[in-house]
Amino acid sequence: MAAIKSNSSLLQKYLQLSQGDTIQAEYLWLDGQGDIRSKSRTLTPKQVSRLDELPEWTCDGSLTGLADHHDSDILLKPVAMYHDPFRPRHDGLTNKLVLCETLSPSSSPHPTNLRSSCLKVMLAHAQHKPWFGIEQEYMFIDMENNRPLGWPKFGHPEPQGKYYCAVGATKVFGRDIVEAHYRACLFAGISICGTNVETTPGQFEYQIGPCEGVAMGDELWVARYLMDRVAEDFGVGVTIHPKPVDGDWNGAGCHTNYSTSAMREDGGLAAIEEAIDKLSLRHYEHIAVYGDDNDLRLTGQHETGHIDAFSYGIANRGASIRIPRHVYDAGKGYMEDRRPASNINPYPVTSILVESSLSRLPT
Ligand code: ADP
Ligand code: MN
Ligand code: MN
Ligand code: MN
Ligand code: MN
Repeated sequence: MAAIKSNSSLLQKYLQLSQGDTIQAEYLWLDGQGDIRSKSRTLTPKQVSRLDELPEWTCDGSLTGLADHHDSDILLKPVAMYHDPFRPRHDGLTNKLVLCETLSPSSSPHPTNLRSSCLKVMLAHAQHKPWFGIEQEYMFIDMENNRPLGWPKFGHPEPQGKYYCAVGATKVFGRDIVEAHYRACLFAGISICGTNVETTPGQFEYQIGPCEGVAMGDELWVARYLMDRVAEDFGVGVTIHPKPVDGDWNGAGCHTNYSTSAMREDGGLAAIEEAIDKLSLRHYEHIAVYGDDNDLRLTGQHETGHIDAFSYGIANRGASIRIPRHVYDAGKGYMEDRRPASNINPYPVTSILVESSLSRLPT
């Protein structure tokens, strides 16, 4: 497929025009395959500051894998709002991105709407103030040849080892897109806390967090949406498949960092170790929601723990769970679950971490 790049200088001419007393709202939702979709509408008045000022909407469920065409209207219920970086305004206000949950015609959560159950879990455990930080790894795809961006037309680049956090045109392919996405996230109001060039050429990471409760899933989905939109401008594809290239190349994960208020307090290491014990009892239940094709990535090689063995360690990047060295030294902080794949749905991942770690053990 050929890349169609947007003509940003031409577009700027039109984005300078006044939009009158309106606001443009881009509604985002997850389709039946777990991909993000969006469509736009014009709202008046020109300023919206609260969620309940945003109307519900519908989408065609038959074209988004959510319903068949006989009864195809799926309800879109606004649940979070961000600033839209793609539609700048010149009157001190912002256009909006509106993240929605999907509801069936009966108004019950759609079966693929995993946010709804995540919210229930987070509310039930809200007194523990669960915080998350997710490290989203991903790879750019060259639309000319469907290969990782920057890779030679035939064969492979030089072996990995020199690319992670590297600089220079022989090692880094796509930094403009990374920078544009970083700023777009900050403008939108996403808690992006960093980015880095990753291990495989064409691969990068951004980190979102710490976010409390259901906001982790919301912010990661909006950050992914922003990445797809920004890369679309550059005519470049993005994949979050956990093993986009076979062979001696690191796969892609979504390391999920997690803490509760007890873990963050002085002496919190005990609470971290207790939680790890509980997680160890439910390894396969966690793996079940830790992403498709994760078996291709969790091989015990390339800085992963094997999919069939639960392990943990201090500063150990070959374990399922890592306690960062600085956390161990401080005796408090958070743990890193290294098992989740890059293509996770963060709602069930954050839910199961809370449920497993805060449940009472059978006596
Ligand atoms: P790594 O060394 O594994 O590459 P990163 O710097 O990429 O670590 O990511 C660290 C993540 O940990 C960030 O997403 C950050 O938001 C998150 N984090 C930091 N403190 C906490 C905390 N107390 N609870 C949960 N997550 C946290
Ligand atoms: Mn139509
Ligand atoms: Mn990282
Ligand atoms: Mn990484
Ligand atoms: Mn990590």
